[in-house]
Amino acid sequence: YEKELRRLSNLDLIGQMAAGISHEIRNPMTTVRGFLQLLKQENQLDKHDVYFDVMIEELDRANAIITEFLSVGNTRTSGLEMLDLNAIIHDIAPLIKIDTFGQNKLIEFDTQDIPELLLNRNEIRQLIINLYRNALDAMEAGKVLTICTYREDENCVVLGVQDQGEGIRPEVLEKLGTPFFTTKDNGTGLGLGICYAIAARHNAKIEIQTGLEGTTFLTKFYLKT
Ligand code: ADP
Repeated sequence: YEKELRRLSNLDLIGQMAAGISHEIRNPMTTVRGFLQLLKQENQLDKHDVYFDVMIEELDRANAIITEFLSVGNTRTSGLEMLDLNAIIHDIAPLIKIDTFGQNKLIEFDTQDIPELLLNRNEIRQLIINLYRNALDAMEAGKVLTICTYREDENCVVLGVQDQGEGIRPEVLEKLGTPFFTTKDNGTGLGLGICYAIAARHNAKIEIQTGLEGTTFLTKFYLKT
């Protein structure tokens, strides 16, 4: 319970960072816009291949940042609506396919009959994306990622993201959700902090089950609050 409180107090820090990052997003966008304008003026497209390279690089960079931070930036005030969680999951399926391209990792969906929930679509999308990307990072080829939903009881619907990685060691588990904590070479250490922030705004709870056979992140949504 104490750990939960500490995680909540990190939310403000993440919010502040998100504000800074959305500012950063404008820089690559501005570059692209400038090059496009130049092309338009000169109208000699074939002579300017290098412009295209720069545009694509900058767009990729912006895209990566937006994907990671979309949820925290300006959704603070945006509302929740009754939505089908299973539909959100299935909308993400093509994205998972792209992320696992050439990796020989299997993806299974086990979405059961659940009632609609009060959700912010973009935030829940982001939550699922962050969780499944961690799950994929944790697994070797040949392993299975499972995304499931089920009704736990009268009042609770569960979203499960399960991997067949090697589990999370206690000293890592302890630090999860701390901004910038990562064990990856190219990690940001922000993914789970964002997940906790999103869960908190949905009055949902994230539980972690981990062992040598893998890890499951359970996000528990409550029908009545
Ligand atoms: P990042 O993915 O950028 O490192 P996160 O906040 O998403 O940031 O995750 C923090 C750390 O938590 C990861 O570096 C990893 O060590 C650990 N972690 C998260 N999810 C899993 C998982 N499914 N299996 C094993 N370790 C995990």
